[in-house]
Amino acid sequence: MKSSEYWQRRFDELEAALLRKGERYNASEVERQFKMAMAAIEKEISYWYQRLGSNNGVSAAEARRLLSADELREFHWTVEEYIKYGRTAGFTDKWMKQLENASAKAHISRLDAIKLQIQQQIEVLYGNQVDGLDRLMRDIYTEGYNRSAYTIDKGMGVHYNLASTDSGRIDTIINQPWAGDGKIFSDRLWRDKDKLVNTLQQEMTQAVTRGDKLGDAVKKIASRMNVAKSSAARLVMTESAFISGRSQRDCFKGLGVNKYEYVATLDRKTSEICQEMDGKVFDIDDYKPGTNAPPMHCWCRSCIAPYFDDEEISERAARDPKTGKTVRVPGEMKYDSWYNKYVEPTTRPTGKGNWEIGSDGNIVVTEVVSSSYGKAPARGIPNAVVQHNRKNGQHDFDLYDGNGFMTLQVHCGNHGNPKHHEYGICGEHAADWIWILENGKWTGHPGIDRELTDEERRWFDAEIKRAVKHSRAKK
Ligand SMILES: [Zn+2]
Ligand SMILES: [Zn+2]
Repeated sequence: MKSSEYWQRRFDELEAALLRKGERYNASEVERQFKMAMAAIEKEISYWYQRLGSNNGVSAAEARRLLSADELREFHWTVEEYIKYGRTAGFTDKWMKQLENASAKAHISRLDAIKLQIQQQIEVLYGNQVDGLDRLMRDIYTEGYNRSAYTIDKGMGVHYNLASTDSGRIDTIINQPWAGDGKIFSDRLWRDKDKLVNTLQQEMTQAVTRGDKLGDAVKKIASRMNVAKSSAARLVMTESAFISGRSQRDCFKGLGVNKYEYVATLDRKTSEICQEMDGKVFDIDDYKPGTNAPPMHCWCRSCIAPYFDDEEISERAARDPKTGKTVRVPGEMKYDSWYNKYVEPTTRPTGKGNWEIGSDGNIVVTEVVSSSYGKAPARGIPNAVVQHNRKNGQHDFDLYDGNGFMTLQVHCGNHGNPKHHEYGICGEHAADWIWILENGKWTGHPGIDRELTDEERRWFDAEIKRAVKHSRAKK
C-alpha cells in the first residue's frame, strides 16, 4: 500500500492542474468578455455625448428631455434588435419583459435610453458568463473524475471498475446549492449582474447630473466594471474548487473508498483555516464543502486525497466482469492510454437508445423546448427525446443514445420549404448522426435527410397526423 504522502502529492498535483483550467478561463474568457462589454458601453456613451453636448460635458436638462420622434424610432428599432437577439441568446424572462415594455413606450427620456443600452451590454455579458462557467464546470468535473480514477488505478497497480460520468449527473451536481446560502453559481452571477446594472445606471445619472466630461464618465464606468470583473474571476475560482473536489469525492465514493484526507499543501502558507484542516480524515459520506472539504474560503487551493486504513477498495471492483481476474495497471501507464482503454469505450456513441414507447406506440418525449432554429446540443442526457416547438408550428425531435450522443433527428414538416423536402406526407424526414473520433474527441454531425423508417413512423404517428393537419390549415 502506498503511503499517505504518496496520495497527498498526487492529488495536490491533480488539484493544481484542475484549478489551472479556471485560471486560464479567467485570463482568456472573462478578461475578453468584460473588455468587449466595456468597449460597447463606451461606444454608447460617446454616441450620446455627441448628441447631448460635447466631450466637455453634457447638459443635465438635455439628457432628461424626451427622445424626439426620430430618436424614438431609432430607439425602438434598437430595442427590437435586442429582443430578437435575446430569443436566441436566452435572456432572462425579466429582461425580455423589460425590453418588451421599452419597445412599446411612446415617451422615454434620453437618460433612460442610455441606461437601457448599458443594461443590455451587461445582460449579454452575464449571459455569456453563466454559459462559460457552466461549460468550465462540466469540463473540470469530467477531467477530475477520470484523472482521480487513473491516479488511484496507477497507485494501486490495478484497474477498478467505475461508472462513467454522464451529463445528466453533472447537471444535478452543478444545479444543486453546495454552500450555506442556498444559491448555485448562476444565481450568484445574476445577483452580481443586478448589482452592476444598478451601479452603472447610478454612475450614469450622476455623470449627467454633474455634467461630467466624456473621459471622466467613461473612467468611472470602467472602474466599476473592473470591480465586477474581479468578483466574476473570484467566483470562477470558488466554483472550480468546489467542482474539482466534488469530482474527486464522487470518484472515491464510486470506488468504495470510505474515507478522505484533507490536504492543504498548496494552501498552507496562505490560509490559517486550511492549515488547521490539513491531515484530518473524514468519512466520505460526511463530505461538505466549506465545513470539512474545500473550498473553505475564497481562492482556496486545498484538496482531498483518498484515505485507506484497514479496509481497502473492494476486491470485487478490481476484477474483470468477464474473466473474473484482477486487471493489472502498469506503473508507467500514461493517462492517455489509460483513458483510451478504460473510459473511451464507455463514452463512445452507441447509436442505440433505451427510449420509452407509450401504449399507443408513440415515443415518449422527455423534454419539450420552444426554440428557433439553431444548433441542437450534440451531447445530452442519455436516452433523452427532446421535442422542439418551432415558431412556424413545426415540431422537431432530437434523440440521444444510451451514452448521451445525438443519434437521430426527426423533423415533422418541411421547414416551410416543400421543394427541398419531398418526403413522407407533409415533408417529415429524418437524419442519422455520424460520429468521428479525432484526437481522442468525438465530433458529430447529421447525415443527409432521408425518409422515416416504418418503426419511426409508428413512433411519431401522432406527430405526423398533427403535422398534416397543421399544413392543411395553413393552405
Ligand atoms: Zn483553503
Ligand atoms: Zn430538416
